[in-house]
Formats: sequence, C-alpha cells, structure tokens
Amino acid sequence: MDRYLPEDWILPALDDGNRDFFTSGRLALQRCVECGTVQHPPEDVCRSCQSQRLEAAEAEGNGRIYSFSIVHHPLGPKLAGSVPYNVALIQLDDHPHVRIVGNVCDPDEGPLEIGQRVRAVWTTVPDPHSDEPLRLPQWVRGEPAGPQAE
Ligand SMILES: [Zn+2]
Repeated sequence: MDRYLPEDWILPALDDGNRDFFTSGRLALQRCVECGTVQHPPEDVCRSCQSQRLEAAEAEGNGRIYSFSIVHHPLGPKLAGSVPYNVALIQLDDHPHVRIVGNVCDPDEGPLEIGQRVRAVWTTVPDPHSDEPLRLPQWVRGEPAGPQAE
C-alpha cells in the first residue's frame, strides 16, 4: 500500500523497544512476563507492575475506530498537499485496552465514523538510517478476515 502521508514525511526512529512494531509487518505489542499486561506503545517497564521482563505479544490486527480527528490545517509545509487527512485511534479486538494511533487509508469508503471496523495493513518504506525496511501499520475499513476468507 502507498504511504498515506507524503513520501518525505517523518518516519519513526528505530530503537530496541519499537523495532519489532515498525519492521516486522505484525502488530507486535509488549506483554509483561510477570503480570501478563499487554501494552503499547513499547516501554522499558510494565505500566502495571514496573517489571522490566517484557516479551512480544502479537495482535491479530482487527479492531474498531475508537476515535479520530480530521486534520485540516497542515502541521508543516510537507503536509500542505495532504489535508484534509485523518489520524485515528484504533481499539484492538483481541486487546481492547490497547489503542494504536494510525491513519485510515481508504478515502473511497466514505467518511470515518466511530465504531467502524478496521483491519491492519502495512506500508513498506526504506528506512534512511538502516538497511531494514520499515513496515508501518495503517488501517483500512472492513470486517476481519475469517479463517475461510481469502
Ligand atoms: Zn507487569
């Protein structure tokens, strides 16, 4: 999928905590080994018990629009050609307390509404600072792909 925002818009800076999320092509969340809390965005410690023993927890990538904003005033000159664009908060089906910020990238589907079903898709872009391609999670509306769906 093409980038929703311009090709020269800023990219995430990779570190040990977020590398999986931005490169794996999966919704790689964090799970606390001590108490089981699943959290996002990645942190150095568990938000519930402050343990530093965290492991990967993959989400299925299905959810609903929890909230969104339509940006009409560009934050900078690079975004001037992209307005209006959306920034959405997605609530995951399998981890409902986890909400992920992203863009819903299907303008042909009509106006966004809170509660609409979305599924994750990935935009692959070269990382200018490493040899690893970035795989940025984004969202499109639609029902989750079931086990028999193609
Ligand atoms: Zn914990």
